[in-house]
Amino acid sequence: MVNNPTELDMLLGAHVSIAGGVDNAVDRAADFEMNAMQIFSHNVRSWSTRELTGEEIDKFQEKRKEFGIEYAVAHTSYLLNLASPKDDLWKKSKKGLVEEIRRADLLGIQAVNTHIGAHTGSGMESGINRLVAALKEIESTDVFQNSEVNILLENTAGGGTKLGSDFSELGDVLDALNYSNRYGVCIDTCHGFAAGYDFATETGLEETLEEFDHEVGLDELKLIHLNDSVGDLGSRKDRHAHIGRGKIGDEGFVAVVNNPNLRELPFILETPKEKLDGKEADRVNLDKVMNMRE
Ligand code: MN
Ligand code: MN
Ligand code: ZN
Repeated sequence: MVNNPTELDMLLGAHVSIAGGVDNAVDRAADFEMNAMQIFSHNVRSWSTRELTGEEIDKFQEKRKEFGIEYAVAHTSYLLNLASPKDDLWKKSKKGLVEEIRRADLLGIQAVNTHIGAHTGSGMESGINRLVAALKEIESTDVFQNSEVNILLENTAGGGTKLGSDFSELGDVLDALNYSNRYGVCIDTCHGFAAGYDFATETGLEETLEEFDHEVGLDELKLIHLNDSVGDLGSRKDRHAHIGRGKIGDEGFVAVVNNPNLRELPFILETPKEKLDGKEADRVNLDKVMNMRE
């Protein structure tokens, strides 16, 4: 059995913790022989951020090179709501995203992945307008212009007033941003499935990607969050399951990781961190995915 994604010519990793310093995340990724990783660049439950030390930044970059972590993405704070109708929260969210970009740039990370927010009652159209206005302001900042960090917009499971469960909403946002190449889309398979897009069969996946191509454009797809789903198709439940052990199941993931439109993209697991079959769940899920690769 091959135990290494690089040998399989794929980009595969998981979300890893930065506990003890951001560079520790690289050690965690290397322990599992990942060649792709996702981190939070700070404590995402707080608005305040601790400045990254020069030493931490250097170590992060050196270790990434040493261990061959080709792809790294930073997931933004869950506190951000770039679509909020409330000025206070909207302002904080804009500042927050700029800070995420600044930190990613310092660390040499190529992209930040963000949830696109919730309209909290103001309506989808108003939420999208708010989001687009926020991103346009962020585009004009020195931090954004002097960096090469891209912004990835993640699809959601829907539910409540969240934007981005329908591919057409992601398409509308990119359209309003003139399809700038500084943006891209991340598809989370759990979120997509919960939102009603079938990822569980090969034909379901074909139809899902056809719709994505029509509404957004497959060229915009830059990252896959590889998560199985506890909830049923269309359940709108954002609950991640281990690969093959949820409602998407093995057939769906075999189709996803081998699809010609997806197979070159980075795959990042956001599955629960726990013991599975007496091993670390990440180990089990990574092995499972690698064994699915044709
Ligand atoms: Mn996410
Ligand atoms: Mn995700
Ligand atoms: Zn999720």
